[in-house]
Amino acid sequence: MDIIHLLPDSVANQIAAGEVIQRPASCLKELVENSLDAGATRVQVIVRDAGRTLLQVIDDGIGMSEMDARLAFERHATSKIREAKDLFTLRTMGFRGEALASICAVAQVEMTTRRAEDETGTLLEIHGSDVVRQEVCSCPKGTNIKVSNLFFNVPVRRKFLKSDQTELRNLLTEFYHIVLVYPKVAFTFVHNDEILLELPVGTEKQRIEAVFGNPKRNVFTSNFVDINTETDLVSIRGFVIKPESATRKAEQYFFVNGRYMRHPYFLKAVQTAYSGMLANDYQPSFFIYFDIDPEAIDVNIHPTKTEIKFADEQAIFQILMASVREALGKFTLAPQIDFDTRGSIDIPLPTDKPVSHPQVSVDPNYNPFRTRGAIYPDRQQPMKGWESLYEGIKPAPQREDRIPVDTENAKMWQYGKFVFMPTEEGLLLIHPHRAHVAVLYAQFLEQLANTQGAMQQLLFPEVLTLPQDEMVLMGQLLPDLRAIGFDLEQLSPDSYSIQGVPSQLAQQSPLPVLQHILQQVRDRGADTQQEWREQIASGLAESAAIPSGKTLTDNEMRDVVTRLMALPNYRRTADGKTIVSLVTDEELSKRFA
Ligand code: ADP
Ligand code: MG
Repeated sequence: MDIIHLLPDSVANQIAAGEVIQRPASCLKELVENSLDAGATRVQVIVRDAGRTLLQVIDDGIGMSEMDARLAFERHATSKIREAKDLFTLRTMGFRGEALASICAVAQVEMTTRRAEDETGTLLEIHGSDVVRQEVCSCPKGTNIKVSNLFFNVPVRRKFLKSDQTELRNLLTEFYHIVLVYPKVAFTFVHNDEILLELPVGTEKQRIEAVFGNPKRNVFTSNFVDINTETDLVSIRGFVIKPESATRKAEQYFFVNGRYMRHPYFLKAVQTAYSGMLANDYQPSFFIYFDIDPEAIDVNIHPTKTEIKFADEQAIFQILMASVREALGKFTLAPQIDFDTRGSIDIPLPTDKPVSHPQVSVDPNYNPFRTRGAIYPDRQQPMKGWESLYEGIKPAPQREDRIPVDTENAKMWQYGKFVFMPTEEGLLLIHPHRAHVAVLYAQFLEQLANTQGAMQQLLFPEVLTLPQDEMVLMGQLLPDLRAIGFDLEQLSPDSYSIQGVPSQLAQQSPLPVLQHILQQVRDRGADTQQEWREQIASGLAESAAIPSGKTLTDNEMRDVVTRLMALPNYRRTADGKTIVSLVTDEELSKRFA
């Protein structure tokens, strides 16, 4: 008898929905992005109970024909791309044609929509992928989508939702990410009949002020200075706070080509530009908009993913830092060697070598008149001679530009929690705990992607008891945890037995390690398998690494330094912490000047 069968669409959609729609905030994001893709000039968001009972988005965009209205809820139905190559010229926010199909699989959806050219509109009601009503209706031009009782048919998901307060915060965060790049669109946000935000059309600055310029947030654009840099590689514009107006709590936003992004490495560039200007634990607020050729960034990003990969991060780091520094009117870099000082200058390893500018690859087919940005189509020609920004700033070596060291034979010694090693470029300081974390992280990630990790059986199996929501999480992580070398079996509805651990963890008790990973995944909100894997790898690496401050034998020191230097990026850990710092002869001499 044949045993393979195709899943009904409703089930397939529900599974896919898990990827795209994790919480009300992801649903809101998809709906509002659709409105913007439809050219809306006004978008109203109406929410009840933090989106649990109702999430409604009303726009005045192009609307849909009767046929399109029905098709819009099919999986992979999109009006935005036709061929795979369209992915590379993507200008709209959505493109996978998954959002509406996913939403209607896990909620009760009612939509009315009408195109300007049609006399009548379409009303469509879908409950958990089943169309329960479709009729002609009269309605204003545009689209009005009401999503009720999200996850009504997926109790696990519903249980997973956090408190209303947290979910509302998530909704607003998602909303800010969008409204900050669309100042020419009017938005309102209503929660339980209270207008939380009323954002009229304006300039970017006015939008920022409208969102954050209340006494609670205290972000007033008069406290900001403009940054503006155009290069062949990237254009960077936006606003950064004057150092004297910085506070402990900062609003930090990066956008690329009209999308919000997280970027710890570029954050470091901004912080570096402020170093020496802010009091301890003060953070700079900024709103920085990058505009770059879409081919220079990873476009086929997961819809829920906010981290974006750039082809030329080191060069952009430099340009960004220079641009912020210029805006702040300072061009001096004070050398620092303390690993833990906030804002220490550690990315560009200063060198005595002749100055070499970051390489910028120039596209021979570059057409300055092709618009590169969705939002700023009227951008000027890229500035030539942007290298002048570097005057007074020492460039960082490129990634390949490694410090030559023979780690097998070099002298090295430990002082406190650091290892010191003389090199041709100067005295290299290494943080061995972080070095080991980076080495293990790379190793665990590699194992998760490709191989089965080596397992060490436990003599005495341990029992891990978890609250219900963490059991759900555990279920998601299980295949990866097993792949990395954990031998786990579910014992009861709220516990697992641990019979084996990855061999690198043989020295540790596995319980705190697993609890740490689960907590990290929860707190940092990993949503995709790649993100889970990153969290698993980092949790394991953190646990299995040499403890900070441990006295190392010569062999241990040499081993960890050698393995560190073999990594493609040995200067910082995955979460952006400094691993190595170089003190040049010049800096040492200065200290005795
Ligand atoms: P995607 O945005 O990736 O194309 P969605 O599932 O979000 O996929 O939407 C499917 C299609 O439905 C869109 O391509 C668009 O044609 C149509 N659509 C969705 N929302 C709207 C809207 N608010 N106004 C007009 N058309 C819409
Ligand atoms: Mg969409």
